[in-house]
Amino acid sequence: MADQLIRATAAEGGIRAVSVITTALTEEARQRHQLSYVATAALGRTMAAGLLFASSMKRPGSRVNIRIEGDGPLGGVTVDAGLDGTVRGYVTHPEVELPPTAIGKLDVGGAVGRTGYVYVIRDVGFGYPYSSTVELVSGEIGDDLTHYLATSEQTPSALMVGVFTDAQGVSAAGGLLIQIMPKAAQDEALVELLESRLSTLAGFTSLLQAGKTIPAIFDELLGDMGLVILPEVQMVRFHCGCSHERVLNALKLFGQAELEEMIQDDRGAEATCEFCSTVYQASEGELAELLSKL
Ligand code: ZN
Repeated sequence: MADQLIRATAAEGGIRAVSVITTALTEEARQRHQLSYVATAALGRTMAAGLLFASSMKRPGSRVNIRIEGDGPLGGVTVDAGLDGTVRGYVTHPEVELPPTAIGKLDVGGAVGRTGYVYVIRDVGFGYPYSSTVELVSGEIGDDLTHYLATSEQTPSALMVGVFTDAQGVSAAGGLLIQIMPKAAQDEALVELLESRLSTLAGFTSLLQAGKTIPAIFDELLGDMGLVILPEVQMVRFHCGCSHERVLNALKLFGQAELEEMIQDDRGAEATCEFCSTVYQASEGELAELLSKL
């Protein structure tokens, strides 16, 4: 199934649900950054969450930046996702691999680390971005971001994110976010029913691997609660807005002495975009032009 995001409501707007399939874009990130298995899972889970978080923003151009800084060997995980369905991201040490856990799962918590912080910045495109920080709970990312939603945004939420990857690459990835609005949160029977259904749900990737579509997953969870699936199927993709021009602008910040050195010693410069691993070359002539403008 193509990468896509679908929104739904239930209980007359008291429950909001959004789900995303990110299999292809997670595979693209894996290839671009040459991610290990555990790094693929960590970045893939965070990218799915980023798209889910961004999907509830209103103003066109809105973006969410999630940074997870744990004390594990993977270093930081950074994701930038937009309401427009684009996402990009990277991890500090993409090559780090860990043995699977006792139950045969990728050890994302061990790789990210169990102590540290989650930083979330919501940027609506003007004024001051809204930023917030919470401590890591388990380093498994799904738990950590659920904790963020509960403490920082004070909305009872269930977040499920998953990535299945093996020697053939990523075969299933995506996530599901369910939020209970204040008026539905008072309906204890409804909340309990939803909680018990969520607890019996297999992991998100298992549902995808079993051939379930997003509407079928919504139906299983919310079908008897006044489910309304919104008709828009939004395409989501890995996209980075970097360009040769932006890299040249960034090089300008090195200043005169450094630029002169790049021309004399290296006869040019090479810069890699950390978000997408695209390598840019700046020629001697381009660097000389930058110098002349300083
Ligand atoms: Zn880039």
